Amino acid sequence: MLVRQPFEKQFVVLLPRKDCKCSNKIYFCKTSAEKYFEMAFKSVFDQYNWNLVSERFSACTAQEVEQALYKKGKRTLDDFAALISPAAAPYLEQMAQISQEITLRRFGNTVQMYAPAYLSNECHNICTYCGFSFDNKIARLTLSEEQMHREFEAIKTLGFDHILLVTGEANATVHTEYFNKAIDIANQYFSNISIEVQPLEEEDYKSMHEHGAYAILVYQETYHQANYPKYHPKGKKSNFYYRLDTPDRVGRAGFHKIGLGVLLGLEDWRTDSFFTALHLDYLEKKYWQTKFSISFPRIRPNESCFEPNVHMSDKELVQLMCAYRIFNENVELSISTRESAAFRDNAFKFGATSMSAGSKTEPGGYALNSEALEQFTIDDQRTPQQFARVIRNAGYEAVWKDWFQQ
Ligand code: SF4
Repeated sequence: MLVRQPFEKQFVVLLPRKDCKCSNKIYFCKTSAEKYFEMAFKSVFDQYNWNLVSERFSACTAQEVEQALYKKGKRTLDDFAALISPAAAPYLEQMAQISQEITLRRFGNTVQMYAPAYLSNECHNICTYCGFSFDNKIARLTLSEEQMHREFEAIKTLGFDHILLVTGEANATVHTEYFNKAIDIANQYFSNISIEVQPLEEEDYKSMHEHGAYAILVYQETYHQANYPKYHPKGKKSNFYYRLDTPDRVGRAGFHKIGLGVLLGLEDWRTDSFFTALHLDYLEKKYWQTKFSISFPRIRPNESCFEPNVHMSDKELVQLMCAYRIFNENVELSISTRESAAFRDNAFKFGATSMSAGSKTEPGGYALNSEALEQFTIDDQRTPQQFARVIRNAGYEAVWKDWFQQ
């Protein structure tokens, strides 16, 4: 039976062909489609309604917040919803204390240091909020192998041993073969390599994992399905469900770590964060050998001149980070240089476990005097060593290397 509704059409290239007996090259049989989605996060996601989830927050009470805060044992998604609700705002001090206790018990007084390395700002997607968007007339650059060596050397000199390789989505030039070459070169300098590039197929992820990549970061940007096309009007990224399914493909490929998150400033942060926590919960149960991290990118000024639809205050970001920590003791929480020095100087005390420093967000930003434009303007401009000193002075240890892959 052929399925020709727009909904299924989106998944034409995603469904596992070996499961489908249909000879048609464009559509897949309904049975295969249903079987596939039964196994994926979509089957969970579709049980929730954005508006109904949004309404829950204003209905949360102080009693529910206190129950979530002082509960013995693992907190539920309902607890998480209570902790990020407006009713929890007066409990911020208590939340920060509990979050700090859990973080110290689980991670010690350590902060994992990493640096992003932008390999390319070429992108064929239009994302209305991004400086690299296809419709922005900016200088574009994709690093050659020789340029990667120079860039990685410069980052290594700063003291980093964990690197995050980042690109836009330009499949003709920035593809799995290119990523594998970049991983091979990065392996010569760093012992921990994370990747933040376009969503790929499971086979691509397996190949990158075999080359030595440790983690894949892929942010849904927003779980607001109806508004997602507004921000992603053109390009492969406009396929909401393909992106939603990506962490599953990464999990099946056997990666050590998967990073999740939403772009804070697009839609209601509470609702988007609830869906992120739902996704995290689902993935943890399914890929129980994998570690997970959450990032908190708040929209920063960039070439797109996009104005956030929703303002999230520093206090609300603290509340969200503490809520994640209380909800999930094991999840890594990551804060980048998008945030101010004042915010970052305290972020690790109430739950952040992984932080970048001295970041450049344009390809070649560390070693080449490239004309290529940055993705966004960073806020904390301090050098990695200056930030490490702040960490040490607070009684914490900046960890540059804690993992070695043979
Ligand atoms: S957010 Fe990513 S996919 Fe979208 S324009 Fe920027 S680099 Fe391209």
